[in-house]
Amino acid sequence: MKITSITTYQVDLPLEHPYWLSGGRLKFECLDATLVKIETDDGLTGWGEGTPWGHTYVPAHGPGIRAGIETMAGFVLGLDPRRVLDVERAMDLALPGHLYAKSPIDMACWDIAGQAAGLPIADLMGGGSRTPRPIASSVGAKTAEETRAVMERYRARGYIAHSVKIGGDVARDIARVRDVEVIRRDGEIVLYDVNRGWSRAQALQVMRACEDLHVTFEQPGESLDDIAAISHKHASPVSVDESLVTLQDAARIARDGLAEVFGIKLNRVGGLTKAARMRDIALAHGIDMFVMATGGSVLADTEALHLAATIPDHACRAVWACQDMITVDIAGGRGPRNQAGHLHLPETPGLGVHPDEDQLKKVARYAL
Ligand code: MG
Repeated sequence: MKITSITTYQVDLPLEHPYWLSGGRLKFECLDATLVKIETDDGLTGWGEGTPWGHTYVPAHGPGIRAGIETMAGFVLGLDPRRVLDVERAMDLALPGHLYAKSPIDMACWDIAGQAAGLPIADLMGGGSRTPRPIASSVGAKTAEETRAVMERYRARGYIAHSVKIGGDVARDIARVRDVEVIRRDGEIVLYDVNRGWSRAQALQVMRACEDLHVTFEQPGESLDDIAAISHKHASPVSVDESLVTLQDAARIARDGLAEVFGIKLNRVGGLTKAARMRDIALAHGIDMFVMATGGSVLADTEALHLAATIPDHACRAVWACQDMITVDIAGGRGPRNQAGHLHLPETPGLGVHPDEDQLKKVARYAL
């Protein structure tokens, strides 16, 4: 089987509400999505998606994905998409780094490989758990009272996992964490996501003040160096998200004991092939995982769900689904959807959901 053409589509995915991160430092209103269709000489077609969370969140850029694919296309055309490692190496040779530009091609190749094998991607990767994965809510930076109200709305829809956004004001952060812990229910999964919003001194103030609660703080500093510099000065569990980009990052975090949780975002780390290695490092070192796409449509949510399904249930804390936050549905309601705060693995071979092609907009095509 050979890849005969790669087509990229650009589509805007407006957010239902403006989204603030890092204590109001960063605002997001619309996501720039790139959908990739890969066609083969035997008729199978695979789809991938790369949707960064804007271009101010991490080093990833919507137009950069399309430029990267243009650069890599000549190296990928003609390869067998089922040999995902060959495709990965060709992309790494054509364009070192730029992992976020590679994830949609990687995803489309896994989609084709699954269809060819007659298996959902998760099963093709070695075994997919059918335990529904809890979707983490996203509770924006607000007062303690507003935080309670937002969590209650999510709970009413079945959510048991919550990502509470903090970072910025030390006293307010401590108050909000303590308040959420008071109302936290048995079995609820709560992560306090700082999104790099603290200095080292601020991080130490909050994490020391909350040590008795044993709650997990995600990305409590700008870089791995920042997280490492304070790791022996507090006793709070840590999740690393934005600073987990390469396999070397994963190895360093595991070896140096910098985190108890990995936040794996598939677009950022370069797709399923590279993320699976991070999963194995995490499992080898007793590190739990959250799995997310970064952002995007139901296609991106589904990619993350497949990886999450290859993680043993006990080590997979939650997934995230962006589908509820955007106002455009490119797949007409198909694919895994939020069911009472959970996603269920599709049994369809491959990814399990494709977009409506006529809904997609600007097109570029590379062909043999
Ligand atoms: Mg995060």
